[in-house]
Amino acid sequence: MAGCDHNCNTCGSKCEGAPKYFKLNEASHIKHIVGVVSGKGGVGKSATTALLATAFNKQGYKVGILDADITGPSIPKSFGVKDGLKGSKSIMYPQFSKNGIKLVSINLLLQHEDDPVLWRGPVVGSAIKQFYEDVLWEDLDYLFIDMPPGTGDVALTIFQSVPLDGVVIVSTPQDLVAMIVGKALKMANMMNISVLGLVENMSYIKCPNCDTILEPFGPSKLDEVAKLYNITPLGKMPIDPKLATLVDQGEIEQYDTSFLNELVTSLNNTLEHKIKLKRL
Ligand code: ADP
Repeated sequence: MAGCDHNCNTCGSKCEGAPKYFKLNEASHIKHIVGVVSGKGGVGKSATTALLATAFNKQGYKVGILDADITGPSIPKSFGVKDGLKGSKSIMYPQFSKNGIKLVSINLLLQHEDDPVLWRGPVVGSAIKQFYEDVLWEDLDYLFIDMPPGTGDVALTIFQSVPLDGVVIVSTPQDLVAMIVGKALKMANMMNISVLGLVENMSYIKCPNCDTILEPFGPSKLDEVAKLYNITPLGKMPIDPKLATLVDQGEIEQYDTSFLNELVTSLNNTLEHKIKLKRL
């Protein structure tokens, strides 16, 4: 096709070889889909997903979260949602956070929230397909996908099958040094997925008594690594015991997300700009 930039994610043309995306049901329309990825588990990817969703929601956007971290789902717990998903023959209804964020997670289908999910990749992939296609998302401005950590089979399925607008990469300072983040980034590049930027979580800790900033993992590497890979540094998040407590209490929406306001505006502008370019 003339003018093809080989980025099938930003193109509506149905040319041969174009990816075959999962299809949303007719009652749902999602404006932007953002994946939140990390090179490995435990770096705060789910917490970041929940905070981003909360920050967008507080600014009036209609937001949903698809918890695709099927073997380590933690989204429902951080929002304090326990009621199971309900459905009819062909549609599944999401659960709602206290502030109205739509949530879908495998944990909302398990009998006990600590039941393990011992599924192989293709089964996990079909669960995600159902979560995307069969859930009554209705009109959403933003769907955030809490991706499985790393660059495995399921992440690959999502990259190939969900029309992502882009991904936010979450890392800790140590992983930035170890370049674990580089693998996630290169995977996104290889799949023609835009990298919207990099968040350095657990970047520092503020002494509650004297406000001194401590960097337990050494000086931040965010700007250096963002420059190395030519991506946007989105910001640094401190280690904050209050955040951990609110996650444990299922009250993450109580966390003050005003430090993310600028990020919300800039991500929204970037994605709206992409839509305009697509229409040209
Ligand atoms: P991942 O999704 O990368 O596996 P999580 O988001 O589940 O990681 O975070 C792992 C644990 O660390 C959770 O208990 C979470 O509440 C906690 N956590 C994440 N980020 C922070 C932070 N900045 N400050 C304090 N605790 C954090």
